[in-house]
Amino acid sequence: MKYTELEYIGRGTFGDVCRALDNATGGQVAIKKINLQELRKKELRVNELMVMKTNMNPNLVNYLDSYLVDGQLWLAMEYMDGGTLSDVISETYLSEDEMAAISRECLQGLDFLHSNLVIHRDVKSSNILLRTDGSVKLADSGLFAQLTPEQSRRSSVAGTTGWMAPEVVTGQPCGPKVDIWSFGIVGIEMVEREVPYWNETPVLPQLLIDIRGTPKLQQPNRFSPCLRDFLSCCLQTNEARRWSAKELLQHPFVTSAKPASTLVPLINSAKKEKKKTRM
Ligand code: ATP
Repeated sequence: MKYTELEYIGRGTFGDVCRALDNATGGQVAIKKINLQELRKKELRVNELMVMKTNMNPNLVNYLDSYLVDGQLWLAMEYMDGGTLSDVISETYLSEDEMAAISRECLQGLDFLHSNLVIHRDVKSSNILLRTDGSVKLADSGLFAQLTPEQSRRSSVAGTTGWMAPEVVTGQPCGPKVDIWSFGIVGIEMVEREVPYWNETPVLPQLLIDIRGTPKLQQPNRFSPCLRDFLSCCLQTNEARRWSAKELLQHPFVTSAKPASTLVPLINSAKKEKKKTRM
């Protein structure tokens, strides 16, 4: 066996994730054990999963290996020892500088995917993984959709409700900018520490869009005009007016961001707090 399992990390939609040792290198990896029957139920195709393997980038959790074990597909990927952005949001408070550095890293990952005609389709804080060296990477969830050059939009509904772009909720064909809306919701999560409208009773999709329009900050004056402008560029309900990842990387909120290594204290303190609450 190439890997030795060390510890169970958690359970996702498609199966368990564990931390393991690469016997050859002594390095750590995360292994996602995907139940192939679950996959079939979700109508996901293995070739979509392979999209991840062919898209290597410093801001994506990279896949290293895949093999079949007793009817399960095991995917070995980089081990992210700093937890998720969702943990950081619930355990600590982020400064605007930290939000800006995280935004730049995520947008670099999204720009890479979009330039390769891939839509992530499930951007949310629990799919943004961190390392204690300050790295910030988008994790998969297996929903990545590859667009062919002729097909610039897809119409299947995928993603997680609170983060879904208006065009996804209403079932219209979607392009890469669905990820930008979802990232804007992550921006609101970082600021408000919760997902807008999360607790509302489910309503018809069109009604939801009519009611919610663009999510607003509860106390906008507590935040800089630059951050507020950045969020409004991500959260344009009209997709044509929503900025692309490439454009957002040129927004002053992002261009003035500090290096990712400045995130180390934040990630470590969230990790410590999470450990305390688990004890
Ligand atoms: P969903 O499947 O709906 O996206 P999820 O993101 O919780 O939900 P998984 O991605 O399967 O599901 O992750 C399960 C757990 O394993 C989560 O706690 C996640 O943070 C953790 N995890 C996933 N990938 C890694 C990784 N590469 N390194 C470290 N932890 C990981």
